[in-house]
Amino acid sequence: MSHPMFDLTGRRALVTGASQGIGHALARGLAEAGAQVVINGRDRARAEAAAAGIPGAEVLVFDVTDHEAARAAVDGFEAAGKPIDILVNNAGIQHRAPLQDFPAEAFERLLQTNVASVFHVGQAVARHMIARGRGRIINIASVQTALARPGIAPYTATKGAVGNLTKGMATDWARHGLTCNAIAPGYFETPLNAALMADAEFDAWLKKRTPAGRWGKVEELQGACIFLASDAASFVNGHILYVDGGITASL
Ligand code: NDP
Repeated sequence: MSHPMFDLTGRRALVTGASQGIGHALARGLAEAGAQVVINGRDRARAEAAAAGIPGAEVLVFDVTDHEAARAAVDGFEAAGKPIDILVNNAGIQHRAPLQDFPAEAFERLLQTNVASVFHVGQAVARHMIARGRGRIINIASVQTALARPGIAPYTATKGAVGNLTKGMATDWARHGLTCNAIAPGYFETPLNAALMADAEFDAWLKKRTPAGRWGKVEELQGACIFLASDAASFVNGHILYVDGGITASL
């Protein structure tokens, strides 16, 4: 039997970008811990297909880069008597190119999707959490919150910002009963990394560079998310939890 501290029964969790990859795995994990999950993505059909595999899951379709859309979707949901107790800001994108050739448009899109979204959705949800005096926000950062790698300098900048925005959220909102933390994943097998997984040279490098000697499986992020969403983490605030097979611990 699991410890009651980790039981999420009766809590509602919105996970952005949950139609596939890490977000979908986190939604599944939260649901297995008892939460009622809400799947977000831009594509309704894909979000509904993802929700279909999770008992009791609902769908809330909006673009996380759109401040007004996020506010309207969250306010509408709350007005319908569906308070959001847990928010996982997971939606994110990647673009790989040498920095000297990096398209300005791609840089802007990364900023909007990976950082501004955390502000847009975080603020929309936190307003209601603050009124209730409780809530959990979990932002998905990256090993790139701490480390750079060739070809992804703008992504690294966005994930560094996610780490500091998490600390800022905790600093402003802890007094209102919220906890705001980040999970920083290492390299996981998801569609976002399809090109890297198909690259034999990168695959060999990663396995050598990672103390655990392998890629992560998305299910291995579920425990960290359940912990940060649960009563077990009630005094954990502004923390960045690396789940990376030891990469950031080692040269
Ligand atoms: P995927 O590309 O597999 O999934 C991204 C999800 O985000 C999709 O469901 C997509 O759905 C959704 N999404 C993208 N843009 C938007 C938007 N503007 N509004 C709403 N939803 C959006 O990514 P991963 O699962 O690999 O990554 C998830 C998060 O984890 C990202 O923040 C990423 O940076 C981070 N991360 C990933 C790592 C990895 O190894 N995979 C390592 C470290 C961090 P749709 O297109 O239908 O909107």
